[in-house]
Amino acid sequence: MSTQDYKGRALITGGSAGIGAVYADRLARRGYDLVLVARNRDRLEALASQITRATGRKVEVVTADLGAKADVQRIEERLRTDRSITALINNAGVGATAPLLDSDVDQLDAMIQLNVVTVTRLAHAAGKAFAARGQGLIVNIASIVALAPEMLNGVYSASKAYVLSLTLSLHNEVNAKGVQVQAVLPGVTATEFWDRAGLAVKHLPNEIVMATDEMVDAALAGLDQHELVTIPSLPDLRDWESYAAARAALKPNLSRNRAADRYRKNGNASARG
Ligand code: NAP
Repeated sequence: MSTQDYKGRALITGGSAGIGAVYADRLARRGYDLVLVARNRDRLEALASQITRATGRKVEVVTADLGAKADVQRIEERLRTDRSITALINNAGVGATAPLLDSDVDQLDAMIQLNVVTVTRLAHAAGKAFAARGQGLIVNIASIVALAPEMLNGVYSASKAYVLSLTLSLHNEVNAKGVQVQAVLPGVTATEFWDRAGLAVKHLPNEIVMATDEMVDAALAGLDQHELVTIPSLPDLRDWESYAAARAALKPNLSRNRAADRYRKNGNASARG
C-alpha cells in the first residue's frame, strides 16, 4: 500500500504498457491516483486492478485513440476542467525503424499526429490549467534520438527533437508560475515499442538496452533532482551540461541585423551596404 501523502491525480497517456505502465505503478506508490489513457481497454483494466491491489490508489481507465482528434479533444477537456489532475505524463508515442524514404508516408503522418500534434495539444491544455492554478507537473517523453537524429528514422527523431524543444520552451514559460516540466530522453528501452516499430528488441545489442523499470526509476530520480532534461543512460552529467552550454553560447549571435562576414560579398565587419 502507498504510504505517501495524496498528490492528486496523474493522467498518463500510453498508460497500458511499457514505460507508461511503469510510470503508473511508480506514481501510485508516490501517492497519486491515476487516469490511464490508451486504446486497449482490457490491458488498461488489468493494470488498473493490479495497481489498486498493490497500492490502494484509485485508478480510472479512459480508452482513447490519441491519433484521432475527437478523442484527443476529450482528454484536453478533462485536463482543462478536472482540478484533481495535478500531473500529465505525456508518454504515448510510436516509432519507426525503416529509413525515411523506405517508410509509408501515411504511417509517418500518423506518427506526427501522435508524437507531435497530440503531445502539443495535451501539453497546452495541461500547461494552461496548471499555470492558472500555480502548480502542476508535465513530463514529456522524448528520446535520445532528439540529440542523435542519424540513429533512427528521421521523422521519429524529428518528432522527439520537437518534444525536447517544446519542453525547453514550455519550461521557460511556466516555471515561474509553479509548474514543473521535464523532458525524458530514454535510450533503447525493452518494451513492445520495438515490435510495433518493426524490429524486436532481442535483435539489438544487450549493452544498449535498458530495462523499463530502471529507465523510469532513473527518470523519476532526475525529476526529484529538478532536472529539466533527464537522459537516464548518460554516465557523466557534464557531457549534457557542455552541450547545453554550447547552445547557450550561440544565443547572443543567432539573430543580428547583419549577415556574418563570411556570407557578405566584400565581407568585412566595417563594410556596410
Ligand atoms: P509501448 O510499449 O509500445 O507502449 C506505448 C503505449 O502507448 C501503449 O500504452 C499504447 O497502448 C499507447 N498508444 C500507442 N498508440 C496510441 C494511440 N494511438 N492512442 C492511445 N494510446 C496509444 O512503447 P514505450 O516504449 O512504452 O513508449 C512510450 C514512449 O517512450 C513513446 O513516446 C516512445 O517514443 C518513447 N521512447 C521509447 C523508447 C524505447 O526504446 N522503448 C526509447 C525512447 C523513447 P494501446 O496500444 O493500448 O493504445
